[in-house]
Amino acid sequence: MLPAGTLGLRVAPKYSKVGWAASDTHELFFDDCRVPAANLLGERGRGYAQFLSILDEGRVAIAALSVGLAQGCVDESLRYAREREAFGHPIGHYQAIQFKIADMEARAHTARLAYYAAAAKMLRGEPFKKEAAIAKLVASNAAMDNSRDATQVFGGYGFMNESPVGRFYRDAKILEIGEGTSEVQRMLIARQLGL
Ligand SMILES: Cc1cc2nc3c(=O)[nH]c(=O)nc-3n(C[C@H](O)[C@H](O)[C@H](O)COP(=O)(O)OP(=O)(O)OC[C@H]3O[C@@H](n4cnc5c(N)ncnc54)[C@H](O)[C@@H]3O)c2cc1C
Repeated sequence: MLPAGTLGLRVAPKYSKVGWAASDTHELFFDDCRVPAANLLGERGRGYAQFLSILDEGRVAIAALSVGLAQGCVDESLRYAREREAFGHPIGHYQAIQFKIADMEARAHTARLAYYAAAAKMLRGEPFKKEAAIAKLVASNAAMDNSRDATQVFGGYGFMNESPVGRFYRDAKILEIGEGTSEVQRMLIARQLGL
């Protein structure tokens, strides 16, 4: 653990990101930093292994975040479909919009089941590597797909940064990248299947 102000610790300027504007993200440099032995977290020389061991739990957390975003897309789309009128009807009257929202609800629902299944195994202390990878893969995909569809339901307003779904659209992509990309989740699942 490095105290702020340690000699050699340098915080680079803030990254300009596509989404997650509320999360402050910087590159850090640790040039010849000297750290008191008392600041050692865990066992010396096992940092990488320790870091890997927290990834499975982190994937359940990202899956939970993704489910929240996927559900937010459903809620906002339902509200807007009842409110916005086009060609004499609320847009929710049209089957094209109904089917989009039905697909969104199905994705949020199945993603939630996958994340609950992984979390339940984790809390019981059972191996949950495969379930965590499945939950992260399925839920981040649901978040991305739902944010794209919700933006479409909102039409031009969806492209405005002030609309809630505009933010969902920008925030969803990182969920398919952080804590291991979707490709990495597939590699983990295949490995757990013995391939
Ligand atoms: C906003 C933000 C916050 C982050 N926060 C954290 C954090 O708190 N802690 C942390 O440790 N990391 C964090 N990260 C890093 C993040 O986990 C990595 O960006 C992510 O794991 C992908 O790694 P990479 O960027 O090196 O991509 P790369 O490994 O360069 O991957 C590029 C592409 O190649 C694919 N690829 C790579 N290897 C293979 C392979 N063997 N087979 C098939 N395809 C492959 C990937 O799936 C991807 O599509 C953060 C990143 C961002 C953008």
